[in-house]
Formats: sequence, structure tokens, C-alpha cells
Amino acid sequence: MSHIEVKNPATGELIKKVEKNTKAEVEAAIEQANTAFHTWKKINAHERSRLLMKWAELVLANKEEIAKTMTLENGKPLKESLGEVNYATDYIVWYAEEAKRIYGRTIPANNDAKRIIVDQQPIGVVAAITPWNFPAAMMTRKAAPALAAGCTFVVKPAVETPLTMIRLIELAHEAGIPKDVLQVVNGSGRDIGEIFTSSKIIRKITFTGSTPVGKSLIKNSADTVKNVTMELGGHAPLIVAEDADIDFAVEQSIASKFRNAGQTCVCANRIIVHESVMDEFSEKLAKEVRNLKVGNGLEENVDIGPIINQSGYEKIVEQIEDAVDKGAGALSGNEYNADFEKGYYFIHPTVLKNANLDMKIMHEETFGPVIPIIGFKEIEEAVEIANDTPFGLAAYFFTQNYQTGIQLYEQLEYGIIGWNDGAPSAAHAPFGGMKESGFGREGGLEGIEPYLETKYLSIGGVE
Ligand code: NAP
Repeated sequence: MSHIEVKNPATGELIKKVEKNTKAEVEAAIEQANTAFHTWKKINAHERSRLLMKWAELVLANKEEIAKTMTLENGKPLKESLGEVNYATDYIVWYAEEAKRIYGRTIPANNDAKRIIVDQQPIGVVAAITPWNFPAAMMTRKAAPALAAGCTFVVKPAVETPLTMIRLIELAHEAGIPKDVLQVVNGSGRDIGEIFTSSKIIRKITFTGSTPVGKSLIKNSADTVKNVTMELGGHAPLIVAEDADIDFAVEQSIASKFRNAGQTCVCANRIIVHESVMDEFSEKLAKEVRNLKVGNGLEENVDIGPIINQSGYEKIVEQIEDAVDKGAGALSGNEYNADFEKGYYFIHPTVLKNANLDMKIMHEETFGPVIPIIGFKEIEEAVEIANDTPFGLAAYFFTQNYQTGIQLYEQLEYGIIGWNDGAPSAAHAPFGGMKESGFGREGGLEGIEPYLETKYLSIGGVE
């Protein structure tokens, strides 16, 4: 097929066809990005900052339209899409500001005739591959720091959700960012990934998506020794200690778990609760979860939209069935509304009690609105369960006791920790994982570093 069919996951209806780019077109985009790099890197930082700010203004001015497009192609409730447009814009604004703060330094030499200067320069042409679950933010948190640093940027969105990104990039061009500085190419990840990784022009690959694809991109980038940033899968634990504020923990667990129908990399994937508060926490959580409204994200008051596609749906159902077979009890959900012919898949938010470590859901990323609950007696046991995974992206815990809190913070092997906080992501803070959740950080001061090379100048003969 020469085009991608973008469908509404809530109805299975075709929204739009998007042309796939040919190999020659993708290669031409990379060449153009290379030519543009030589002029863009020389534009002064204040002007790059101004252009990024203008882009942010245009995105906000078109917020409703972008959010509607996002809900149509991704399925998330409109209120979440509006939230994502704000979140995506925060990255543009933050890095517009950071463009002006790419500092170098001088180092005292051990020789009076020498001066030492350390400088930061843009790394070059950057290629990005992004997932469908945050069609706007996963792009802006890469593109904004890259452009701020003086790099040029070519991005491939997921085939499910190219429309939001195409619109955002149109607005960037409208803001005055040159077309060849920021380009989108469409097609399958496998094909375009191969072109990106084998290119001698591209100096950096930045990827957000699953761990297996991330591993293949790292391997394929080795021949040209590309710099890589990898934001990969997660399997977040959420620990509820015996002294936690249970009502608050319930509210925050819902915020963490059920956003985007559980299809986020930082979603709590398993709840680990002290046995003394197990019944109270589980019952209160299930009661609130039963009130969440499932449906088309464009309808008012919907909390849980559809699952993105059939393979995502089948994986979630398999995990629920496996857990129930192995003794879990569903306190809510475990209900489905799917039409394989039309192509839509809804899963009612499901709370599973009596989880145990033999269940797949306790070891695999779910990416759906399902949460298993397991008990613990000693805090060390909770830490052991939480760290028993190759992933290390986000972890959460709820406790009012500062000793328990510090102990958990220090012992959890995760890049992002929420202490009494189910929603820690922010453009001004470093987001990223340890272990097989990837490397590199996006957001904050750290998020621009991956787009900069450190260069060192030693001047001699200064008498
Ligand atoms: P995915 O299957 O890895 O796809 C992500 C992107 O990679 C898509 O654009 C996809 O292209 C492309 N791709 C697929 N196979 C490829 C290949 N062989 N070579 C190069 N690119 C390839 O992941 P997903 O299912 O869309 O997204 C969910 C995953 O992303 C989860 O594991 C989640 O945890 C992770 N995620 C991580 C973060 C983070 O910041 N750490 C944030 C969000 C999501 P197609 O369009 O062809 O599918």
C-alpha cells in the first residue's frame, strides 16, 4: 500500500489516508536536513528561541482543533487530549528558554601560556521515531530541544497517529521555522528505521517506544556510531504503605493507572499494598474505578477510551485471563466491548485482587486499563517485588512516614519516582528510565544535552 489508513479506534472508521514516503523521499528529507543544518546552527540562539516561542503560541491558538484530531486518531478522551496539547507546548516553551542557556566554560590551565575553553555545539541531523500513545508530546520533547540546540530534525510518527504531528509541524513552519529544519516522514517503522540507522548523515537517533524495537535501533546504530536516546517500556510499581492516606492513594492510583486507558509507559502496572490496609484500599479503589465511564473520547464525561488496536487488546485480555486462571479476583471490569470486523476494542477498567508473582501481568507491561493488587508485610518485601523486573522507568509510593519514604526513594531502581504523587511528568523535570527502560533523559536541564556535542579548545602561546 502506498498510503496509511488512519482510523478512529473508537469506531473503526477511516479518518484519512496519508501518503507513505518512498525510500528516495526519506533519503531526500535527510539530505535537505543536512543542508539546512549548516545554516540553522548559525542562527543565533535568541532567534531560534523566538521562533520556538512563536510555534508554541500557534499550537495553543489551535489547541481545540489539535486535541480533536488527537482524540479521533488515538481515542483518548478529549479532556486528556487538551491536557496533552498543553503538556506538549510546555516542552516547546521550556526549550525555547533553554536555547539561550547553552553555556560553555573556561578551565584554569596548568600553564600560564595556555587558555582552555569548553564549548557546546549542536550534534547534527537528528532522526526521531515516536509512538501513538502521546502523538504530540513525544515529538515536541525531542524536536524542541533539538531545534533549540541548533540541530535539524526528521521525525517518523506511528502509523496509527500521524495527523496530530503533521498539523503540529505545519504550525512550526507557519511560525517561521524553515521547512527543511523540521520535517515529518510517513511509513512503517521497520522501513524508515532502516533508512535512519544506516544513514551516514544522521548523527543521532531519538526513539520512544517498546524495548524490543529500541534494542534493534541501538544495534543498528552501531555501524555508524550514532548517539542514541531511548525512552522505552515500563512496568511501574505503586506501593501503598500501612500509614498511607488511603483516599489520596486511591485518587492518585487512578490518575496514574487509567490515563489514556492505561496506555502510557509510566502507568502503574502493579499495586503493592501493605496487608493491614489491603481490604480498605482495594474496596475504595474498585468503588471509584466502577464510576469511570468507558466510551468514545469525543463524548462528554468519558474517562476511558478504546484500546489502540487488536494486538494491544489481545495482549491485555490474555493477561487478565491468565491472572484469573491463577487465582485473581476481578473487583471491577473484566468486561469487554469489541468488534473485530469494524475494528474497535474497549476494555472496562479492571481491578484484580489476590495477584501473585506467577501471573504474567506481574512481569509484563500491560498497556491497558487493568491493575493487579498484591500484598506485602515488610517494606523490604515490597521493594523486592518492585525491583524484580528488567524495567526501571517510573515507580510510585504512598506513605506519610519520611523514613519509609526516603528508604523507598533510595532503594527503588527507577528513573522517575512519585512520592505521594501519581503524575510526576513535567517539561521542566528529567524524564527517563534505568535498566531496559532506556537511557538519556527528556525534559528539564538534562533534555537538551543529548543534542549537544562538547568541544574543547586549548589555546597555547599566550604570553
Ligand atoms: P513500538 O511498537 O515500539 O512503536 C513505536 C514506534 O516505533 C512506531 O513509530 C513504530 O512504527 C516504530 N517501529 C516499529 N518497529 C520498528 C522497527 N523495527 N524499527 C524502527 N522503528 C520501528 O511501540 P508502541 O506500541 O507504539 O508504543 C508503546 C511502547 O512505547 C510501550 O512499550 C511504552 O512503554 C513505550 N513508551 C515509552 C515512553 C517513554 O518515555 N519511556 C513513552 C511512551 C511510550 P509503526 O508506525 O510502523 O508501528
